[in-house]
Amino acid sequence: MKTVQPEVFLVARPQIDYQQLAAYLHEVGGDSWLQKLDRGDLDAQNLAEFAGKICYRSWEPGLNPNVRRVRTDQEKYLTQAILAQQHGSVLEHASFSFVLHNISRVATHELVRHRPGVAISQESLRFVRLADIPFWFPDWAQADAELMKRAAGLLEQMEEFQRWMAGHFGLDDEGVAFHEKKHKTSFMRRFAPDGVATGMLWTANIRTLRHTIEARTDPGAEEEIRLVFGKIAELMRAEAPALFSDYTVEDGAWIPRWRKV
Ligand SMILES: Cc1cc2nc3c(=O)[nH]c(=O)nc-3n(C[C@H](O)[C@H](O)[C@H](O)COP(=O)(O)OP(=O)(O)OC[C@H]3O[C@@H](n4cnc5c(N)ncnc54)[C@H](O)[C@@H]3O)c2cc1C
Repeated sequence: MKTVQPEVFLVARPQIDYQQLAAYLHEVGGDSWLQKLDRGDLDAQNLAEFAGKICYRSWEPGLNPNVRRVRTDQEKYLTQAILAQQHGSVLEHASFSFVLHNISRVATHELVRHRPGVAISQESLRFVRLADIPFWFPDWAQADAELMKRAAGLLEQMEEFQRWMAGHFGLDDEGVAFHEKKHKTSFMRRFAPDGVATGMLWTANIRTLRHTIEARTDPGAEEEIRLVFGKIAELMRAEAPALFSDYTVEDGAWIPRWRKV
């Protein structure tokens, strides 16, 4: 048994091609919007603002005769014109990819229930052998000596059975076909616990992130997924502060002012 901690690595984020953006805006008379834009590290926010403003050509007053006034402050625009108005579709353009490392099958099974706006690549336990079971124990469990002794004993017994099966099926013998290894390894994983730590690459757009952060940090959510989504929420608040500034955090629960944007 190997004790592990669930970890989150943010591995990909949106990047704007400002030259192409400038070329387009020049075509439609929107140069002034780009000149005012902070091109710092806020590409996700810039993309969301761009997506919102393309809808009404609201780069500056008068381009569209129906638009007499435009909001120039990005934070106010994103909170008042996008979040508060539930104009959430513009948030779907910006996606972020996270490696969720050492999270259990309990957590991955709950996570895959969230469908729109996500992409998933999950470690295959049809291929990966489980002779040394990685397992997360929350602090309260680690503090319980009797529980830990019994849990370790049970996991060691499972690992021993995995090793026995591998030998019994001759998986490491010369010339065993790959499909045979896959077939038997898939059978063997049925004897692994739901708490076995595994990993996935999980990509989600900002609209989905807002909804899943709320749902999965809720006090009623499972403790491991709450821990993981607390980390994701912190990362997202740093990446796109204006799009996550309406949350209040109470005992680890992220509660948005504007729900289901
Ligand atoms: C605390 C907690 C406890 C839970 N307990 C259980 C449980 O006991 N048993 C269980 O089975 N599940 C349980 N779940 C999972 C839950 O029922 C949802 O399946 C999961 O949270 C996915 O969220 P979602 O339904 O909002 O869908 P998502 O896939 O996250 O979709 C986001 C939103 O898009 C819209 N949407 C998505 N798909 C459709 C569609 N097909 N039709 C119309 N609108 C759609 C909805 O507005 C939806 O809220 C629990 C979840 C939480 C957070």
